[in-house]
Amino acid sequence: MEHPPRRHQVIDLDDLSTEEIEEILATTESMKEVLSREIKQVPALRGRNVVNMFFEDSTRTRISFELAARALSANIVNFTARGSSVEKGESLIDTVRTLQSLGADIVVIRHSQSGAPYLVARHFQGAVINAGDGRHAHPTQALLDLFTIRERLGQVRDLRVVIVGDIVHSRVARSNIWGLTRMGAHVTLCAPPTLLGPSQHWLATWPNLTISHSLDEAIKGADVVMALRLQKERMQAGLLPSLREYTRAYGITPERLAQIGEGTLIMHPGPMNEGVEISPEAATAPNSVIEAQVTNGVAVRMALLYRLAG
Ligand code: ASP
Repeated sequence: MEHPPRRHQVIDLDDLSTEEIEEILATTESMKEVLSREIKQVPALRGRNVVNMFFEDSTRTRISFELAARALSANIVNFTARGSSVEKGESLIDTVRTLQSLGADIVVIRHSQSGAPYLVARHFQGAVINAGDGRHAHPTQALLDLFTIRERLGQVRDLRVVIVGDIVHSRVARSNIWGLTRMGAHVTLCAPPTLLGPSQHWLATWPNLTISHSLDEAIKGADVVMALRLQKERMQAGLLPSLREYTRAYGITPERLAQIGEGTLIMHPGPMNEGVEISPEAATAPNSVIEAQVTNGVAVRMALLYRLAG
């Protein structure tokens, strides 16, 4: 059998087939097994250099990539814009070329500009993984979400998934829509019109999406409810009447938690604005898988590092 050409970049899930996503999830399972051992390390990427290039703040994603690279025995270097030549005006392209000359094999990039990882991929001969770019994409988050859903509910196909909140600013939502629809889930986007944007924009790319402005309606019969963080840093003024109003209509409040039922997964990519899009009760409910999402993030990132550079 012919091997498929090796993938060199994961920038979004739009160019991943169902089969490839299945393979990544299967590799993730093996990686999870490695992480359950007493010695959580295998030599798969020994001698490989991974550079974590984060131009935007991050806690869980950066640490998760770092732990993933270490668990595969790669060398990992953390690069932040502060204190680097980027502050002196070095362009992203120059920076990437420099990293290339220094021997980087994989670049993991987070950037506030949508599309920045494509630019990096054009000028870097190694592998590139997008760790979140502007509002565009966050493929590793979507993969860890798919993995967590499948782990808990046994499948993704035919599930009813509600994504609620600040969808217009959310790279997590976009990558999840690609992944979930490709894996056969029915996705409902639920948000006030100001945090959704024109419905026809969504439906032009994904005609099978359901659009809702009522969370109480959307959660009926849902298998998964995924709340998104209000992205205040990307928001212009005037999108919300008030936070209290938002919580009343779109928050996972204790009342909605009771309506949702125990068989429905509650998810959130973090960091959470507790008491705004999700109540502390919902975040810690028995059907909340928010901690599992964080844990599974390391295994998913190991799987990608391994598949791109192993
Ligand atoms: N951590 C996720 C991201 O980087 C979600 C968020 O920030 O709200 O996009």
